[in-house]
Amino acid sequence: MDRREVLQAAAAAGVAGVLGAGSKGGRAPALFVSHGSPMVALDSDAYPQALRGFGEGAGPVKALVVVSAHWETPGEVRVTASAQPPLVYDFYGFPEPLYRLRYPAAGAPGLAQDVVARLSSAGLRAVADTERGLDHGTWVPLLHTFPQAPFPVVQVSMPLGASAADIARMGEVLRPLRGEGVLLMGSGGIVHNLRRVNFHQKDASAEPWARDFDDWIAKKLEARDFVGLQSWLDAPHATLAHPSAEHLLPLYFVLGAALPEDRLTQVFEGFHHGTLSMRSFALRA
Ligand code: ZN
Repeated sequence: MDRREVLQAAAAAGVAGVLGAGSKGGRAPALFVSHGSPMVALDSDAYPQALRGFGEGAGPVKALVVVSAHWETPGEVRVTASAQPPLVYDFYGFPEPLYRLRYPAAGAPGLAQDVVARLSSAGLRAVADTERGLDHGTWVPLLHTFPQAPFPVVQVSMPLGASAADIARMGEVLRPLRGEGVLLMGSGGIVHNLRRVNFHQKDASAEPWARDFDDWIAKKLEARDFVGLQSWLDAPHATLAHPSAEHLLPLYFVLGAALPEDRLTQVFEGFHHGTLSMRSFALRA
C-alpha cells in the first residue's frame, strides 16, 4: 500500500465506523438546492413542500456532507468536525423569529475526518474545524428537507478563489461516499444578484435576463453537459446573474459527484423576488 491507499483505507474504515457497517442499501442521492432568501425558513408554500417531498423519498441516507455558498476559506478546505455543530445565523436585519429557529442536527466527527483524508489524498489542503457551525445555506433548506434533523451533517468550505473545475473535483473525490449512504449536497443559487432582488414582492414575475441565464443552465443540465456548464461565463447575462461566483459554485460540487447511471430529477423550478432562481434538482442512481 502506498500513502494514498493507506489514507483511502483509513477513510473507508472511518466512515463505516461512523455510519454503521454494511451499507448495502444503494447509493444516496446528490442534491443541489437554490436556497433563496433566509425568509423561506418560515414559508410553507410550494418551494418548502418540494424540498419536503424530496426528503421523504430520499432513499438510503445516513448522513449529509454539504457545500454552501456561505462558507469560503482562504487557502484550504475546512470541514466541520464537532459532535454538535452550532447554527450560524449569518444574515442581518431579518425578523426576529428567524433567529429563534433551531436545527439540532448532530455532527459526525468520524465522517469529517474521513472527508479530510479523502480530500488530502487527492492533493487538496483540508483541515478539520471543531469550532465552525452550519450556516443558513445549510440549515435553512435542511429545515424543510429533513425537518426532524435525523441525519448528522458535515459542512465543507470552498477554498476562496476556487474555480468551477476545482469545486467539481471536490465532488468527484467525495463521490464514493454516496455508496456509504452519504448524501452530497450543494446549496447556492442558480441566479443570485442581491442588487436586483425585488425584496417586497416574492411572487414578482421573473426578469427576462434572469430567465435567460436560468434557461441556459437548465438546458445544459438536461443535456448532461456538465463540463460545458463550467463555462458559465459564456451564458447570457452571466455577470448580471452572478456578480460573484460563490452562489453558483456549489452546483459544481453536485455535478462532480454525479455517477454515469444517475437520473437527474427536478426538485423545484421557479423564481422568488423576480430574479432569484430557486431551481433545485437531484441526481440519483
Ligand atoms: Zn445565500
